[in-house]
Amino acid sequence: MNNTGDLDAWRDLPALQQPEWDDPAEVRVVAEELAKQPPLVFAGECDQLRERLGEVARGEAFVLQGGDCAETFEGSNADAVKNKLKTLLQMAVVLTYAASVPVVKIGRMAGQYAKPRSKPTESRGGLELPAYRGDAVNGFEFTPEARRNDPWRLLKAYHSAAVTLNLCRAFTKGGYADLRQVHAWNQDFVASSPAGRRYEQVAGEIDRALTFMKACGVNPDEFHSVEFYSSHEALLLEYERALTRVDSLSGLPYDVSAHLVWIGERTRQLDGAHVEFLRHIRNPIAVKLGPTSTADDALALIDRLDPGREPGRLTFITRMGASKVRQALPPLIEKVERSGARVAWICDPMHGNTFEARGGHKTRRFDDVLDEVTGFFEVHRALGTHPGGIHIEFTGDDVTECVGGGHPIDEDDLHQRYETACDPRLNRGQSLDLAFMVAELYRK
Ligand code: PEP
Ligand code: MN
Repeated sequence: MNNTGDLDAWRDLPALQQPEWDDPAEVRVVAEELAKQPPLVFAGECDQLRERLGEVARGEAFVLQGGDCAETFEGSNADAVKNKLKTLLQMAVVLTYAASVPVVKIGRMAGQYAKPRSKPTESRGGLELPAYRGDAVNGFEFTPEARRNDPWRLLKAYHSAAVTLNLCRAFTKGGYADLRQVHAWNQDFVASSPAGRRYEQVAGEIDRALTFMKACGVNPDEFHSVEFYSSHEALLLEYERALTRVDSLSGLPYDVSAHLVWIGERTRQLDGAHVEFLRHIRNPIAVKLGPTSTADDALALIDRLDPGREPGRLTFITRMGASKVRQALPPLIEKVERSGARVAWICDPMHGNTFEARGGHKTRRFDDVLDEVTGFFEVHRALGTHPGGIHIEFTGDDVTECVGGGHPIDEDDLHQRYETACDPRLNRGQSLDLAFMVAELYRK
């Protein structure tokens, strides 16, 4: 089934949201160059994540997936990556401790460089230019030069992903993620925010538990490093195809650009190129499902992407919006569960809750984000199914992009530190607030 012919079958199908490149020959040269690069992740790691997600599908673990809406090349520096990881680790600790559940940590990191857009162009001050499609395609700056699609950016995306993943691996394996560091992750944060102070309490309790366990002679390896996985939207099929390799052990193809890749809400057509391509790779994969998804869409996606009904192979990331989740989600879950498929269900409470603020900034209300997660939990509890995790857009920095939270940001504050290259992200305090609230929902 998985010969390389199948890996190229998508080329004959409609592929939405692909950039128009000036010179297809140049794209081929770049793709050949990419195909020569070393893998970013290994098949065995992807298999391990698939097993973890199998645990999620069976109700034994919870996913925390997050990062920028759009990573930038400029953002692949030590400080920004460390701040993001630190926040992810803090959230994970809160969830693990307060909800007593194993947390599968997946960065929306080291590859999230391409964006689907609702409009092909953007107008400002009378000037109309191509929309920004992510650093892998063109530049964010609003100039004709920056907005020109440049295929060599695909290679730069690979290198930025490599640098970012290397940092993530170093931080998570090299001692920084040691549970004895729980206080250190909070050091620059504790006094300045209510979430930081609340976290400090949990960290103190964990400390005492660790000291107790050590005194009892228990000090397992799991306390000293964390399993961290990378993920991004598999949007640019030339890029994903060039980074797909046949694993020498199993003879099966893996997309070695990330451990998990997902299909976005705009590119999940059953007869489209994205579904066709992802069908053939062995990585764990996910599909976003918005409020217009029907149960039959979900079943057809399962037939295409997970014909073997393998727990962990397929995750559905639902993004219904706070006002719709309680109506739109139950029919999907019911029918999928009745079919016997074991998918993991994750809630993306960001993408159904975006609106334009008074000053023109794209934003989200913290309360809507929390309300969608609450609805997600309510629906799963009512059906007796497992709320398997959350997928969020966040940053480790103190940006002002989403309104509300424990240390509230007002619509009129948004301009202060609005730095996202695409959608508004939760800042560090808002992310931690959310983790505490999700832990409470989980415990109920
Ligand atoms: C995204 O995750 O940034 C995104 C575009 O989401 P969706 O495909 O759910 O719209
Ligand atoms: Mn987004």
